[in-house]
Amino acid sequence: MRKFPAVAAAVLATVPFVGVTAQPASAAQPATAKTWSALMYNSLNPSPEAIKLRTMLPVMRRTVIDRRNALAQAVRAQGAAQAAVAAATSGTRLATKRYAAATVARDAAKKADRPKANATVKLRHTQLGQSVTALRVAQTGLRNTTAKATAANDAWHAATVAVRNAEQKIAASGYDPTAAAQAAKISAQVVTDTRAGFTIDDTTQIYGITINKTIAYAFQRMLDDAAHDGVPLSGGGFRTKERQIELRVINGCPDIWTAPASSCRVPTAIPGRSLHEIGLAIDLTYGGKTIGSRDGVAFKWLAANAARYGLVNLPSEPWHWSITGS
Ligand SMILES: [Zn+2]
Repeated sequence: MRKFPAVAAAVLATVPFVGVTAQPASAAQPATAKTWSALMYNSLNPSPEAIKLRTMLPVMRRTVIDRRNALAQAVRAQGAAQAAVAAATSGTRLATKRYAAATVARDAAKKADRPKANATVKLRHTQLGQSVTALRVAQTGLRNTTAKATAANDAWHAATVAVRNAEQKIAASGYDPTAAAQAAKISAQVVTDTRAGFTIDDTTQIYGITINKTIAYAFQRMLDDAAHDGVPLSGGGFRTKERQIELRVINGCPDIWTAPASSCRVPTAIPGRSLHEIGLAIDLTYGGKTIGSRDGVAFKWLAANAARYGLVNLPSEPWHWSITGS
């Protein structure tokens, strides 16, 4: 497992605590717990940049279409300019031939003393000059349209790249494994700090399941996403120390206060040590039954996804999920 000691320390020092003024009931919530909640919130939500990009995307896509149309138009103009150059080139070639022919005719006429041929030479010379001018105009047109087509191609390409980059940023923004890893790194400290000052006011209900407010947002997101994937989950979270003592009796633990959890018929933590007593563990059910197997659809979904919501399984109990896995 990768470790992020420096990152976790930096987060503890710098992450702003969410809802300090908005949630007076959580005034006693430990700083580490607030940081855990903030990290998981960031992990499960798009960044402000991604939200902005999502609103800009339709306009960016429209720009790609507009620029592609402009490029097609510029390429058509370039093609027309190429045809004009070809026509002017052959026109010049013809005018050159006619001028040469007129010169030859004039020289022959001089010998025969027929001055009329001079006029034809002048005419052909003028025509040659005109066709050379036309060729130069056509060549300038080709240069201009080629430059415009190149610029249009660059603009279309830039718009395409911008859309692709925005789509990648949006796709990558929903879940930040780095933030989830940072939350996992401090979860043991969250348990210690939470246990020190826990009261029932630190709990809330998510779909009828009583859990610590620290994990409420991530837990609700997990149940929502699991249900969306066709795996509706429920379960039991918080229980009092008194209930934990009862369970130690019910589950046949050899001794209430010292026997290890594994010595009970159903593994049951020593009172005062269970994460259920501070609302940071949940025993999950699927289809109304406790998740007792690793082969079922519910466990498989959790094994693949629960870490995204900051929850880890206790290996000896497929149903038991908490922020530390204990
Ligand atoms: Zn449990």
